[in-house]
Amino acid sequence: MSTTHQLDWKNLGFQYLPTNGFVQLDFVDGQWGQVEVKQDPYMPMHIAANCLHYGQACFEGLKAFTTKAGKVVLFRPDRNAERMRLSAERICMEAPSNELFIEACRKAIEINRDFVPPYGTGASLYLRPLLIGTEATVGIKPSSTFSLIVFVTPVGPYYKDGFRPVEALVMEDYDRAAPQGTGRAKMAGNYAASLKPGMEAKKKGYPIVLFADPKEHSYVDEFGTSNFIAITPNGEYKTPSSSSILQSITNETLQVLAQEMGLTVIREPIALNSLDQFSEVGAVGTAAVLTPVHAIQYRDRKFTFGDPDVAGATLTRLYQQLQGIQYGEIPDTHEWLVEI
Ligand SMILES: *Cc1c(COP(=O)(O)O)cnc(C)c1O
Repeated sequence: MSTTHQLDWKNLGFQYLPTNGFVQLDFVDGQWGQVEVKQDPYMPMHIAANCLHYGQACFEGLKAFTTKAGKVVLFRPDRNAERMRLSAERICMEAPSNELFIEACRKAIEINRDFVPPYGTGASLYLRPLLIGTEATVGIKPSSTFSLIVFVTPVGPYYKDGFRPVEALVMEDYDRAAPQGTGRAKMAGNYAASLKPGMEAKKKGYPIVLFADPKEHSYVDEFGTSNFIAITPNGEYKTPSSSSILQSITNETLQVLAQEMGLTVIREPIALNSLDQFSEVGAVGTAAVLTPVHAIQYRDRKFTFGDPDVAGATLTRLYQQLQGIQYGEIPDTHEWLVEI
């Protein structure tokens, strides 16, 4: 398993590529088994498996990088492990401990070392831990058996245009989550719910959707697959407090960096009709890291944020700081990097 691949690292998209294999561990009889390496990307599953019918499935997304010094590092895997437990708890699943989760991630990288993009390419290795309920159940009840799968795929920048501002549409015809639903859990079904609004926005020419809060439809919740952050002209970093958004680790990390840069971090409900208070808006998440948003269409009102062709100065600095740490160019003072 050490063939050298001639992948075009600089032009990778965000898609599944075949690798050397993946890891799986199963929860049976009340306990987790061994971390096993598998090659065949198809898995046998009972046709009545709970995850297939009732959506008992949640996942994570995190990245490994090759640093300037040539080390392979994972970024904050403990936070992903903790969030997977949170998601699992909400939908009555067993989740692995932090140690087991990280061991599975480590193994998935080790068997795919030659798929970790080299330093300097702007690419990274995306890890997808997936937790599914596998018991054959027809009556509605939680599964008692689970599988954790971790597969990897090398990825380039999420958006083909790279760090370039996009325009978003506030979606009022659909919600991705309910007020006390599963929006805080990274569960598979949330994405099924956001596919149609996402497709409709794309058809209208908007690459991303901004969801309103599902209770009152008057506050900002989050973008389809990423958190909302915004900068005010007097140096504030604002992000919504809402019970239906996914707690982004990228957002959490950027808040720490923003504070270190002297910005004031504020988490509060953000009214959709108060978007004109912001000079910069960004969509943040592991896959895209940070996508600047230069305009948001809300009903017949279009809010704009800075130059449509160039990202704002503050978001650019935050982005560079985060990427600098991930690629080992800036000291990792918070010990966010875990060496593989
Ligand atoms: C995963 C996800 C995010 C981003 O979270 P990160 O931890 O930063 O990757 C944001 N919103 C939703 C709906 C998500 O599923």
